[in-house]
Amino acid sequence: MNPEEALGQIASEVSGCTSCVLHQTRIKSVPGEGPANAEIMLIGEGPGANENMQGRPFIGQAGKFLDELLRQANLQRSEVFICNVVKCRPPDNRDPLPDELGACDLYLDRQIAAINPKIIITLGRFSMAKYMPGVKISQVHGQMRKIGERFVIPMFHPAAALHQPGLKSSILADFARLPQLLDVARQKTGNQAPAVHKSIEENRPAQPTPGAAPIVPGELLPKNQPEAEEKPRQMKLF
Ligand code: URA
Ligand code: SF4
Repeated sequence: MNPEEALGQIASEVSGCTSCVLHQTRIKSVPGEGPANAEIMLIGEGPGANENMQGRPFIGQAGKFLDELLRQANLQRSEVFICNVVKCRPPDNRDPLPDELGACDLYLDRQIAAINPKIIITLGRFSMAKYMPGVKISQVHGQMRKIGERFVIPMFHPAAALHQPGLKSSILADFARLPQLLDVARQKTGNQAPAVHKSIEENRPAQPTPGAAPIVPGELLPKNQPEAEEKPRQMKLF
């Protein structure tokens, strides 16, 4: 099965899924959308009211702000894959529960495997927790980490950032740095073109860039946390 077929298969399974209680109250499940060869995958929390009606991710107010954030990074929505940790709307937008997250994670993992993105951007704490459990987003937002085989950048959730001026300027600045981070991720993955089939990728040995600082898998927190940052931030990647 090629990546497009795999994503189609996942979407069709999601549309009929009854693996957790969220299926009882959903109108439409929201599998996610975007090209199978996307270099960047964004993972939010769960569908809201609009998404539940239309079956598409991030189409409400948070979605409009996400479009603005993508513009900051010179990206079009059509270039990235956008989905959520749970594919069906939690009633009244409540937090997804652990068993719901656990049931739906299978689909997310299969989407990640099919797309094999260069960078995963987590939006908010639930998708961040998949990669960095126990970490505070205020301390790591916008910083790229290599976690296992993946480059992950935790970002504030656009819905949270939209209404808090401090967070809004911060998330805009974080997205503005994304092109630089994508260059780094491309270099460190041998700069291979998108759309490489997963099975090829899985057998590819890691290609360290000569002279590059080693990436420490699993190192989640910088050794020293700078307090306030008056000067423009130095690029600090790992
Ligand atoms: N918020 C999310 O986390 N996901 C959506 O799809 C919409 C709003
Ligand atoms: Fe299935 Fe995920 Fe929807 Fe639960 S949230 S019913 S696991 S698709």
